[in-house]
Amino acid sequence: MANTLYKNRVPITLLQKYDRPGPRYTSYPTVPEWTESVGPHQYKAALQKASQTPAEPLSVYVHLPFCEKRCYFCACNVVIPTRKRNSDDYLEILYREIENTAALLGARNKIVQLHFGGGTPTFLSVSQFATLLDKLECAFVFSADAEISIEVDPRVTTDEQLKYLRSRGFNRVSMGVQDFNPVVQKAINRIQPYEQTKHCVDYSRELGYAGVNIDLIYGLPHQNVAGFTETIDKALTLRPDRVALYSFAYLPESMKHQNFIKPIDLPELEVKAALFSTAHGMFSEAGYQHIGMDHFALPGDELSLAQNNGKLQRNFMGYTTKVSPDLIGLGVSGIGYVSDTFVQNHAKLESYQEKIQNGGFATHRGLKLAKDDLIRQFVISSIMCNFKLDFQKLQEKFSVSFHDYFSAEFDQLGPFAADGIIILSDDSLCVTALGRTFVRNVSMIFDAYLRSKPAADRPAFSRTI
Ligand code: SF4
Repeated sequence: MANTLYKNRVPITLLQKYDRPGPRYTSYPTVPEWTESVGPHQYKAALQKASQTPAEPLSVYVHLPFCEKRCYFCACNVVIPTRKRNSDDYLEILYREIENTAALLGARNKIVQLHFGGGTPTFLSVSQFATLLDKLECAFVFSADAEISIEVDPRVTTDEQLKYLRSRGFNRVSMGVQDFNPVVQKAINRIQPYEQTKHCVDYSRELGYAGVNIDLIYGLPHQNVAGFTETIDKALTLRPDRVALYSFAYLPESMKHQNFIKPIDLPELEVKAALFSTAHGMFSEAGYQHIGMDHFALPGDELSLAQNNGKLQRNFMGYTTKVSPDLIGLGVSGIGYVSDTFVQNHAKLESYQEKIQNGGFATHRGLKLAKDDLIRQFVISSIMCNFKLDFQKLQEKFSVSFHDYFSAEFDQLGPFAADGIIILSDDSLCVTALGRTFVRNVSMIFDAYLRSKPAADRPAFSRTI
């Protein structure tokens, strides 16, 4: 039935065929491959190396982990505050981390992208934001066209906060919605009436935020096609500039709070595929451009324009147009990429605070990329962001021939070409419009770590569809 209903959209049969666990490739190599051999010592060396190119810009991510209560679907690193685990103490430590980092970066201090993620960043009060932003402005210089963004939860974000953040240069807000249906909202412990979200969107626009984005999730308990169609209809009335449409990753073994969600309430695989297909069709019909994998953007949005020009990039903060070779991750569990080295801070609040308090860095794990990693990172990033791998560019950048270097992978690309997902020519691999939904699957072919492990030994990833 679903096939008939959605015949003009991504075919359900293809969605089912390619639905399997797989990385989201916010990094390559993926996080499970990182090890504790990269710690504070290696991070300091990476920062010092980065300081030697002062003209290069920086991206900065700040993790603000506090939330009033847990949404059951959530996969973020969250802290529910108590008297001992409070935001004031956390911010004091964060300020020290900012100072320590800036000291090693020296004159390398120009920010082109800043993102506050969480948790719920708007858990902070206006005066807390004021001090945090003062500290960042003291340590770094913001480029005039910097993208300064924040995740806002419409349930707890006040007009005063939105107004203040706008006055301090924030120009993009992302709002978690997930689903507007009250039954779904109850099942995920996140009651958020449409009117609350609409007010947040409207007021952000009135204040002049250049980008207002919303996040939706498919695959949540009690979702069905009829209900999700209503959710998308409501989302479209808000006309967000960008939409992130994530697949729900149900991993209760590693995220205990997800046990509040009963497997029996989750949509079957075919329904889940139909939810994506429905959303994809509705956003496409409403004029949105599919920005690979799980994002949609209005045609005039910077992401769409950058993608059309082959200039789109991707990092831990998602798709971006801001080109910076290094990303500084600050805060508990913060992830960075500096001098070709991935680094992640301790995810436990106490460990993070203790390490910084003792005068150092809280780097817990990471990976220094080898040449093969960099080559594959380039290939996967080209596929994920710009839907095209130009073999000549690969040759120029790394002095390797695609056909020689990837002869084993080439043989596995045939089925993707046969299904109309990619087009292979002598000089490029192009992802088709249909194939945009399956970029994770195509990228997996080039993942050397994944290929080296039998399926049973692979880390637990969310499903690709
Ligand atoms: S508000 Fe956001 S970060 Fe906090 S629990 Fe809910 S989904 Fe997770």
